[in-house]
Amino acid sequence: MKLPIYMDNQSTTPCDPRVVDAMVPYLADHFGNASSRNHAFGWTAEEAVESSREQIAELIGASAKEIVFTSGATESDNMALKGAFEFYAKKGNHIITAPTEHKAIIDTVRWLERQGADVTWLPVNDDGTISPDELKAAIRPETVLVSLMHGNNEIGTINPIGEYGAICKEAGVLFHTDAAQTVGKVPIDVNEMKIDLLSMSGHKMYGPKGIGALYVRRKNPRVRISPQLHGGGHERGMRSGTLPVHQIVGLGKAAELCRLELPDEMKRTKALRDRLLEKVSAGVPEILINGHEDNHLPGNVNISFTFVEGESLLMALRDVAVSSGSACTSASLEPSYVLRSIGLDDENAHSSIRFGVGRFNTASEVDYVADLVIQSVAKLRAMSPLWEMHQDGIDLKSIEWAGH
Ligand SMILES: *Cc1c(COP(=O)(O)O)cnc(C)c1O
Repeated sequence: MKLPIYMDNQSTTPCDPRVVDAMVPYLADHFGNASSRNHAFGWTAEEAVESSREQIAELIGASAKEIVFTSGATESDNMALKGAFEFYAKKGNHIITAPTEHKAIIDTVRWLERQGADVTWLPVNDDGTISPDELKAAIRPETVLVSLMHGNNEIGTINPIGEYGAICKEAGVLFHTDAAQTVGKVPIDVNEMKIDLLSMSGHKMYGPKGIGALYVRRKNPRVRISPQLHGGGHERGMRSGTLPVHQIVGLGKAAELCRLELPDEMKRTKALRDRLLEKVSAGVPEILINGHEDNHLPGNVNISFTFVEGESLLMALRDVAVSSGSACTSASLEPSYVLRSIGLDDENAHSSIRFGVGRFNTASEVDYVADLVIQSVAKLRAMSPLWEMHQDGIDLKSIEWAGH
């Protein structure tokens, strides 16, 4: 076993070596511009792009023409929200979303609010899910778009997006989902789930960084979005810019590998995640598991270690790459807004650690991490006067602290 151990696969995933191998020829020999119609260099590039488009479409049950290449899920989210809001301005200005979304949605929606959007932020259950009934009740005649994520990047909760899709379809409202965490990890079918727009990212599915895609439905209904990048009219006018062929080949290969290996990989990462949780639960008293008990990303578990500072625990876990609920949104020590949305207080939000098991983790790595967590939490709690008082049965919430 090699240190450090990477167990932060919600943040990014390593590029699969098979993806790297597929990409290299398109950086060297096959450097053509996929828009060059007059020579073989262009044709070779275009062929590669179109075969990647097929591979990506196949992974989510779409057709190739519905895949638009972007620089990643952040751009896909921006493009979907701004593009639909602009195109359907005559229909209305109401957008529905939730406070647990990724910043790429939250900040885009806030920007749209300043452009005149009326936004409903749906309430969040303490398991991180959004209730379909709440969504149904929030839809109005002037609603143009619902954007609700599939898998949450911090707590791993998977939302019932098929139910949201059905509700939106019935109401005649467009449904966008940010599926950056779930594409290639759990089964997705855009037709079964009645998804109109879907964002995905290469580097969350063992592909390269700087590439992603937006699925844009072409039938029942034909979804239109106003372009946000103007220029040469690439990607059927929706997103101009010379296509990064090597990146696209990488995303296509990553999608193919995910599709072929998904059933096995899902089982394997889930088993490793469960093994980690079982060991840590057995070895550490008084932990909180954040997120949905059953409906979660296969490899994700987010745990609050009460009476321990997440930052101190991260230091103790120096050889292990994981994330803490206080560090993930910014350089400041603001507690995670996702954890706050599901009702955690500041202390428990600050004491949370996100473990993300992925394709390349092994059982011995999981065991090493579990043992290290158990030892580290015990050490940190032994130094904590609050933990000692809690052990003595003192209710810390009832104490009036001097100076407060
Ligand atoms: C990582 C992530 C993004 C951003 O994707 P990039 O490709 O890095 O821009 C958006 N949404 C979710 C849910 C993510 O996990």
